[in-house]
This record gives sequence, C-alpha cells and structure tokens, in this order.
Amino acid sequence: MAAYGDWEPVIGLEVHCQLLTRTKLFCACRTSFGDPPNVHVCPTCLGLPGALPVLNGRAVRLAVRAALALGCTVHDESVFSRKNYFYPDLPKGYQTSQFDRPLATDGHLDIEIGGASKTCGIQRIHMEEDAGKSVHTAGDRSSVDLDRAGTPLIEIVGLPDLGSAEEAGAYLRTLRDVLVFTGVNDGNLEQGSFRADANVSVRRPGDPLGTRTELKNINSFRFVEEAIEVEIRRQIVQLEAGQRIRQQTRGYNADKRETYLLRDKENEAGYRYFPEPDLPVLRVSPALRAEVRAETPELPRAKRRRYEAELGLAPAAASVLTSNPAFARFFEEGVALGAEPSKLANLVLGDVLRDAVTTGSSATFTVSARQVVEILALVAEGTISGKQAKEVYAKVARTDRSPRDVAREEGLAVLTDEGAILAVAEAIVAENAKQAAQYRAGKVGLLGFFVGQIMKRTGGSADPKLAGELARRALGADPGAGPGAEGGGDRDGEGGT
Ligand code: ADP
Ligand code: MG
Ligand code: ZN
Repeated sequence: MAAYGDWEPVIGLEVHCQLLTRTKLFCACRTSFGDPPNVHVCPTCLGLPGALPVLNGRAVRLAVRAALALGCTVHDESVFSRKNYFYPDLPKGYQTSQFDRPLATDGHLDIEIGGASKTCGIQRIHMEEDAGKSVHTAGDRSSVDLDRAGTPLIEIVGLPDLGSAEEAGAYLRTLRDVLVFTGVNDGNLEQGSFRADANVSVRRPGDPLGTRTELKNINSFRFVEEAIEVEIRRQIVQLEAGQRIRQQTRGYNADKRETYLLRDKENEAGYRYFPEPDLPVLRVSPALRAEVRAETPELPRAKRRRYEAELGLAPAAASVLTSNPAFARFFEEGVALGAEPSKLANLVLGDVLRDAVTTGSSATFTVSARQVVEILALVAEGTISGKQAKEVYAKVARTDRSPRDVAREEGLAVLTDEGAILAVAEAIVAENAKQAAQYRAGKVGLLGFFVGQIMKRTGGSADPKLAGELARRALGADPGAGPGAEGGGDRDGEGGT
C-alpha cells in the first residue's frame, strides 16, 4: 500500500489462449505459425458466402479441460454469437465468439505471492476464433494474412482481484503453467499463443471500483508487469491533479516507459451481438465432462507437492522441475527407471538443464533420462567417482553412447586397487615428512591433507574411503583411532594392523 500512497490499484486480466489443436475452430484448415501467408485458408475461414462452420470437437475438449483445471462450472449448454465489427483481418465481418452464455463461469486460480497463497477469481471462460493478421510492410502498403483466422481460442476473464503489478505477473505465470501442463496451450508468448490484456484502475480503499483503462497487446510477462506499474502511476498522477480517468484502450511503449492512447473504448452495443444462426447450441454432457476430467494430466501445483512429499525433493528443486512439463517428464522418466529422486534432481538441475534448450513448453536435452540414470548407477555402485560422473556426462552428451561403455573405454573407474593406492600414499608420506611427523604427534586433522594429496595424484579416481584407510596405514600410526589409542596416546614406528 505504501508504494502507492493512499491509492489502491485494482487489476483484472483477460487472457486469450490458443488451443493446441491441429485444425481450426470451424474448418479443417491447419493451425500453423510462420508458414507463407494465406496458404491455410478455405471458403469457411475466408468467410465466403454459403460456407458453413463445423465446430472442432477437439477444441471443445481442450476448452473444457482448461475450465475444469481452473475450477469453473462448465455449463450443459452454451451459445456462439456473432460479434460484429469491420476490420481488414476479419473477412466475415464478425467474430464468432460466445457472449451471454459462455462455456464456463465461476472458477479460480491460486497464486503464490510473498510466500502466501492468494485465490483469484475467474469470471468466465468462453470459446472464440482468432482473427487474421494485418501485415504493415514498408511504404504505404498493408497486406492481410488469413492463416491465423479461425484459430481456436479461449478467453479467460479474471475478476478484478489483483492488487499490484507483481500479483498480475504471478497470475499470468501460474495460469500459463496450468494451461501448458494440462496440454491446452504451448505457452508461447512470442508467437502470440498466450496473450494478456490488463484492465487497470485505482481507487481509495473502501471506495467503489474506479474507471479502468485496458492495456492491450503486450507480449511478455515482464512488459505486462511494467506497463501495469506505469499505468497505475499515470492514473494516480491524473487523479491527484483533479482530472478524471477516461475509459480507454491503451498500448505500452517499453522504450519510453509510457502507456499511450490507442482508442476510446468500444461498448458492447457497438458490436450488435446476436446468436450465431449457423451453429447449434453447444452441449457438454456430464459424460463428456467426466471423460475430460479423467484424461487431464496432473496440475503443476499437485506435481510440486508430490515431488516434495513423496519423492523427498527440496521445495526449490521441486519448483524448477515443475516449471516446464518437459523438465517434469524427463525427471519422472528417470525416477521410473529407478534413479534415487534427489540424486537425479541434482544432476538434472545442474548439468542437464544447463545444457537444455527450452522453447515454450518443450525442451531439447543433450542426454536421455536413461543415460543420466546409468551415470547415477555407476556412481552408486562405486564404479566411478562423483568427479568422473561429470566427465562421463560430458562424453555421452549429444551421443547415444552408454555411460557404462564410455567409463570402460576411457579407463575411467574408481581406483580400488589397494596396492596401487598404498604406493601413492607412501610416496606422499615420504615427500611430506614434516606433516607426517605432526600427524603422528597428534595433529589428526592432517589426515585430510594426505587424503587430498592422494586424490589429486590419482586424478580423483581413488575410492575416498580406501584412500583414508591407506593414508593412515602409510603414516604408520593412528593417534585418533587405532587399538589402544584412547586418550590420544601416540605411538612411534611401525603400526600396521
Ligand atoms: P470488456 O473488457 O470486454 O468490456 P468486461 O467489462 O467484462 O469486458 O471486463 C473485463 C475485465 O475487466 C475483467 O477481467 C475484469 O476483471 C476487469 N475489470 C472490470 N472492471 C475493472 C476495474 N474497475 N478495474 C480493473 N479491472 C476491471
Ligand atoms: Mg476487454
Ligand atoms: Zn479454413
């Protein structure tokens, strides 16, 4: 509160989320990104006279999945309407959307903020189609690309429950994770498959809601947060100067760190909504709801809890592994192959994720879960040391070689040959006569020095436990532990047992 004087910001988010279908909402054209313009079009998505829409069943299932994951009531019947407006990228002259009878209402999303959980209301989720794209090329020409026209979307309308830019950021990230983990959306903000509009107002605490502005077309979480913060401050300055806020749609200029007027807000009457005559009422049966519920993958929050409670991971590790479904899949595959979860998590969070390339909700790894599990097994059975594990990892990365073969071929193996380690230990004791004498005189801590030297000379391959035993033997005395050593009595000379 202090940050805004005696003003209280109020934010409500509207998120457009592309459903991960192969084809468009009302025709069989492919959904695509980055193909040449106007190749995925047909009479239906071009809005040619006489073409009729056929609703994509897969899109409905995904929309229901999102609605259930967000705790909404999915209605038995919902209705598509025409939202009429003129724009070059909208060939039909209207967008087919849902208006007064949306697919689902009254859900919620729990976000984590300042270490506490906050429940944010979701007012409604409705299905609609995307528009095409106007491409403004050099000079005074613009062209229209209709490949995107008719792409299935859901709009998730949040209640004005958010009290800061930071909360808005947390809401968007959490929402994205839910949609990505349930396989509804690919989480790709850059390609526009997850787009947020932010409604922002400020008021004195206890007052009714203030007039809002709507920030549009901001395609990164960081910029959404920044734009909201900037807009909150602009409104406070306006109001304190005695001016009123006009209901507007505004854009954000990240270079100038300013929001700017796009247009005064259209009201609903301007769209002349009416029910779509070419589509029947959308019916979602209890059976379909149950089927969708059963096929919905585990939500990120539940996964995180399970990693902590059942697999014993630290919260930080569980949180990173559940930040991307590809990370979680890799980790779970490793666990299924028998790896010890926290050891596996260490290796994944370290080397594996460092080398992975992440795009949206997918990731490319340089090793397979199977290879990682085999490396851990080699360490666990004492065939290679922790340090050698790193070398084996580096050697198998980007290949399909087996870590066990690599360890063998490279001659990497823990040195467990007593004779060889003892010879090294004796040489080191001879070279460090002063320390050896101090050790024998009772400075037990020096054992670590000798073990360190042995490890160094064997390139980290000596079995550390054995190195300790043999260092003691080479030192010929054990002031800390040997028989008759109570009271730290020091014996001289040969003491091999
Ligand atoms: P539209 O923007 O299409 O006119 P609504 O009027 O239903 O749709 O409002 C949509 C969004 O605006 C919702 O996310 C809601 O939370 C948010 N909102 C409504 N009033 C306010 C307000 N006074 N301050 C901030 N957000 C608001
Ligand atoms: Mg709006
Ligand atoms: Zn089409």
